[in-house]
Amino acid sequence: MLTWHDARHLEPGQFAAYEKGLWARALSGEAVLGFARLARCALVGAFEDPHRALRLSYIGDRFPIVRRRTGGGSLSLDPDTLMVVLAFPMGRHSAVEPAALMSVLCAPLLAAIRALDVDAAFTAPNDLVVAGRKVASAFLSRADGVILFEAALPLALDIEELLKTLRLPLEKLSAQGILAARQRYAPLRALVPGLATGALRALIATKMAQALGLHARREPPPSPALEGALVKESRPPPDVAAFLKTPGGVLYLDAWLDPKAAVREARLTGAVACLDPNLFLRLETSLVSTHVTGLEAALTEALGATKPDIIGVESADIAYLGHLCAARFLIGRELGLGAATQISTFSPNRNEPIDAILASIDAVLLPYCAKPTWCKWRHRDGCPECGRCEVGEAYTLARGRQLDVTTITNFEHLRAVLADLKKSGKRAFLGVCCTDFFLKRDYAFVEAGIPAVFLDIAGDTCYTLRQEEEAYAGRFEAEAFMDARLLGRLLDWRDRLTTLGNDDLKGGKQSTTLLPEAD
Ligand code: SF4
Ligand code: SF4
Repeated sequence: MLTWHDARHLEPGQFAAYEKGLWARALSGEAVLGFARLARCALVGAFEDPHRALRLSYIGDRFPIVRRRTGGGSLSLDPDTLMVVLAFPMGRHSAVEPAALMSVLCAPLLAAIRALDVDAAFTAPNDLVVAGRKVASAFLSRADGVILFEAALPLALDIEELLKTLRLPLEKLSAQGILAARQRYAPLRALVPGLATGALRALIATKMAQALGLHARREPPPSPALEGALVKESRPPPDVAAFLKTPGGVLYLDAWLDPKAAVREARLTGAVACLDPNLFLRLETSLVSTHVTGLEAALTEALGATKPDIIGVESADIAYLGHLCAARFLIGRELGLGAATQISTFSPNRNEPIDAILASIDAVLLPYCAKPTWCKWRHRDGCPECGRCEVGEAYTLARGRQLDVTTITNFEHLRAVLADLKKSGKRAFLGVCCTDFFLKRDYAFVEAGIPAVFLDIAGDTCYTLRQEEEAYAGRFEAEAFMDARLLGRLLDWRDRLTTLGNDDLKGGKQSTTLLPEAD
């Protein structure tokens, strides 16, 4: 029997207790399905860092932030979104691959939507779409013999509120951004005018029951829990942090270190569909007391040979975060910086040490947004080094070393420059760009396959000002700050390494200055 109910309207703080109640019933062998609508809130995924996923400055005291049990991306919710929550004993679904399980459990939801004459389809990893526009998103968790499947089904959607709430790596709040975002969603009432939600709920319950081989039976809604669980997190910035874009989403590793650079506390986060609710906590715990340079090995050991229960993320990806953290730590130590969070590396060969990449740098790419808005060179490649901005200093530093230096003026220009670098056999480049750009457009760098060291820019970026549409077209009108002194220190380090000789470095040996200090 699949017992189902309509919980109607819940306060956001009641959602955790509501999920817990359904989970507990599944633990005792019941299959239970609930529908709920939450008052205005941000619902963060089980493993998401609200600081990275949400625009906290906008949310402020406007509405609460709550966390759900399932992984995946955060949601901007209001009562116009129908939340579907299904909990059942996992039985034959215990060994199904996570990606396949998502598709299997989305199938009855899809069947219900298609029964409304809507030509929807499942698209991996977790969406239902109509002609490429999102109708619903689904999320999963499984542990202790229970599967929890959740789906958010917007009946109507306030796109502007959504874009103000979430830090989506996609369209933003420019007029074009809102238009583009609108094209990416298809709220159900727009597809089915006059939609009867009562009938929809009954239809979903019937299809879900059929998929599980059960009969559907309606029950009265459970009494809502009184206790509230709101997300309130504030902690100091990490001493070292790294991120990695994977097919399953962006993963972050933050670590807080003791004076000997051993981990006091670690935190793995991301909008990833990790089905195992305990995996990240187990990995974080395994890192405590590990020297920062041993994070990769510690993660590899803790992960073991079992494939992690995550969609689109491999064990090697998680372990590589440890490598990236160590690289940033070593860069920070070499340059006398704290966390070196401004510097990232990319290499098609994950084993390539940071100093091998640095020693190979023979080109520098700078963003036009760091040039002053009044400079007539802002939207052109080149700079006569008039001495009135940091970009000019960067040109001096690069040209003094006979490095190729280019101002990137828009996205197409970047792709053309990367293709030229590749064609002319450049070994690596030093690129200046904001992290958001790197995360969103990393495929351009992956395609080019040239190792790179990236220096982040500070100040207003077109992402914080929500103007990236303009930025890609070269029309961003605010100024980002580029730290030319730090760029100079990176190039000085490159010079020292170049005199050391690349061969030693390519062989995997790191310069002695980079070896971890003895405890
Ligand atoms: S140094 Fe170059 S980029 Fe900066 S203001 Fe002068 S000409 Fe413009
Ligand atoms: S995305 Fe915007 S802020 Fe970031 S580097 Fe490009 S132009 Fe500058």
